[in-house]
Amino acid sequence: MTHVEPLLSVRDLKAYFHLDEGVVKAVDGVTFEVRPGEVLGIVGESGCGKSVTMKAILRIIDPPGRIEGGEIRWRHEVQSGNGSIVSENIELTQLAPNSKEMRAIRGGEIALIPQEPMSAFSPVHTVGNQIIEAIMLHRKVDKREARRMAIDLFRDVGMPMPERRLDAYSWQLSGGLRQRAIIAMALSCNPRLLIADEPTTAVDVTTQAQVLRLLRELQAQRNAAIIFITHDLGVIAQVARYVVVMYLGLVMEQGPVDDIFHAPKHPYTQALLRSIPSMASTPREALPTISGSIPHPFNKPRGCPFHPRCPQAIPGKCDQHQPALQPVGERQLTSCFLYHDREVAA
Ligand code: SF4
Repeated sequence: MTHVEPLLSVRDLKAYFHLDEGVVKAVDGVTFEVRPGEVLGIVGESGCGKSVTMKAILRIIDPPGRIEGGEIRWRHEVQSGNGSIVSENIELTQLAPNSKEMRAIRGGEIALIPQEPMSAFSPVHTVGNQIIEAIMLHRKVDKREARRMAIDLFRDVGMPMPERRLDAYSWQLSGGLRQRAIIAMALSCNPRLLIADEPTTAVDVTTQAQVLRLLRELQAQRNAAIIFITHDLGVIAQVARYVVVMYLGLVMEQGPVDDIFHAPKHPYTQALLRSIPSMASTPREALPTISGSIPHPFNKPRGCPFHPRCPQAIPGKCDQHQPALQPVGERQLTSCFLYHDREVAA
């Protein structure tokens, strides 16, 4: 099997928020890779650190949050003197968030599809003007050419009457059309990585199915990599090939979607999977829930972060030591003492 170099490599990433009340370790040592054309799902309950991870990659964490440690390595492509494309690795944590290089990567090479498209567009400019402006910012084209490209993008995302919709304001579009417009905006600079942050949370189930289908088609046509962030493992099953399961700022398990769905190793992943509705469920049958609640971020438990809710916790071990993320089997990694004894160095 040929080795494909990762497009994005995140190693032991830590992002903390320093508040008067204490330090919130929103991301506390997260590691994963994304290869060209791959769809990676990051899943977890709210507060697990998945959105802060995405913001760290884009270098848009709001103060008092900041990257505290780790690496975010991006494979940047540049045109050499003879016109050929050469790639070089750039350490994004070393770039200032508003530096020219970081702004060129954010929006140009890595684009975001935000959770709430209403707030992504300015209400006082037409969606077309905002997309045309984004195209002209990252590409050397005049306004007429940028408008033609914007119409093509609207066609690509299945926008009905693209010329007319380009001159609409975001508040004149339905939720589904707004979501298509924001996907067109994200694609406007032909990014090599799209980060989709819960893109189907604010839309109904029919629109959700359409948006997921559209993202799958666009990914296949353009061979762009996608990081898909969601709380819903059911959505991951429809779009992703590889999944990272997060809990309280840490990776509990990661591996190919097929392996994780058919043989989940970590008790948290097992509990998440049991709580997905199944076609075999009988009407009014209560879905299993995960016992207990997510601890307050200031009160992270010592040891394995899942131990207060874990039915298989080993007393004296899981409540004292934090398991490291280790390979289990051929393709999965898990941080659980049921499979190995390796712990995170203090
Ligand atoms: Fe449960 Fe212990 Fe595994 Fe944590 S390390 S998931 S508490 S068995």
